[in-house]
Amino acid sequence: MKIKVVESVLKANDAVASENRRRLDAAGVLAINLMSAPGSGKTTLLEKTIPALAPVRCAVLVGDLQTTRDAERLGKCAADVVQINTGRGCHLTATQVAEGLASLDLNGISFLFIENVGNMVCPAGVDLGEHVRVALLSTPEGDDKVAKYPTLFQPADAVLLTKIDLLGALDYDKRKVYEDLSRINTRAVLIELSPKAGAGMERWLAWLRQQRGERT
Ligand code: MG
Ligand code: ZN
Repeated sequence: MKIKVVESVLKANDAVASENRRRLDAAGVLAINLMSAPGSGKTTLLEKTIPALAPVRCAVLVGDLQTTRDAERLGKCAADVVQINTGRGCHLTATQVAEGLASLDLNGISFLFIENVGNMVCPAGVDLGEHVRVALLSTPEGDDKVAKYPTLFQPADAVLLTKIDLLGALDYDKRKVYEDLSRINTRAVLIELSPKAGAGMERWLAWLRQQRGERT
């Protein structure tokens, strides 16, 4: 019985996710679901990405348990930002994204970034209606995370290895990350990034523009 309940909840979520996707498609918006552990640099990446995409306009949905801190940071650069406080919820749901979309003006928006709640486990199992999934992994988290949390990296269209500028200060084997990823996901592009130092940003921006060109 329990399994049936879980399935029906996920089915209800998927129906709302499909509706979100239809709505985004109709508006010509590419939606990107950003997933990672807390502190991997999702908000910092967006702070650098959104101004770099200008004059193309971006909107953001930010999921957090509490506080509007990320939304306040991103409000300075995005055309429109909606904060979704999930309370105890450790991932965003399609219904929360639908509610967020209802209060966003998608007119003239090209990219919608959905910053998921910082969590390496369940966000990957929940379709929000996004077009692409991006998993971030920062070097201070350690080189074993792809092997330990494969469910986050398996469905990713892109994996961003962030804070790459800290590599020299860490005991970190980058080859291990590449090897572990090649075992579970050969489709994703892997981009090494340091948004602060600017490294890898051109490749990341080119990938985003290419995805929008192909999918909208
Ligand atoms: Mg954040
Ligand atoms: Zn969760």
